[in-house]
Amino acid sequence: MRRTARGHYRPPPLWRQLLGQLRGRDQMLVRGPETWPLLLLSFPRGHDDIATQLRDAWLNTLPLLRAPVVDPYRRMLAELPSMVVVLLDPRNICTCLGHFHPPGSESRLARRLRADTGGNLGELDLAWENIRDWRPHPLSSLAATTDAAGFSRLHFRAALLTVLLHELDHLAHPDHKEQTVRHSSDAFYTAVLDELLREEGSGSYGMSASA
Ligand SMILES: [Zn+2]
Ligand SMILES: [Zn+2]
Repeated sequence: MRRTARGHYRPPPLWRQLLGQLRGRDQMLVRGPETWPLLLLSFPRGHDDIATQLRDAWLNTLPLLRAPVVDPYRRMLAELPSMVVVLLDPRNICTCLGHFHPPGSESRLARRLRADTGGNLGELDLAWENIRDWRPHPLSSLAATTDAAGFSRLHFRAALLTVLLHELDHLAHPDHKEQTVRHSSDAFYTAVLDELLREEGSGSYGMSASA
């Protein structure tokens, strides 16, 4: 998912892969409702906090969203492979927020898992610092002046979920155009952030006036 809508995927340069292996990576398995794919989060050692935040957004935020917000993705979730590898890294050199990995471009981890399990499997990557910096909504810069810390926290949860679902949508529907996928995910982000802000009782952010 690019900051502006246009799709592509470039596999990470070899040196980054090697560095990742040197530093070591940890994995976290996240099991949600039965019809959702099993997520295997892979992240650089020492970044359990990011994996935990993504797990909490997936298990605690997504199932509790109002039906009109989550319904556009409900069928898509059921159509996904039974397991999806999510590679988490701080940043992408190309500055994209994430990519889905078409068959043939998956990591060694995903290829290994597919060979070992014989199951159907997908893979995507997310760049969490690029996602944290992302400000898709024109009102968000104004809103941030009210309570920067609180806003940043809720923005990050909404944005992590949004980019994850955007890339999952690509995995489920490789034939769908970026514009279509992006339209759904931009609407999702606005609705989720609005809902999270309401939950916190902060009507002062003005997010309901969605542009
Ligand atoms: Zn996309
Ligand atoms: Zn990119």
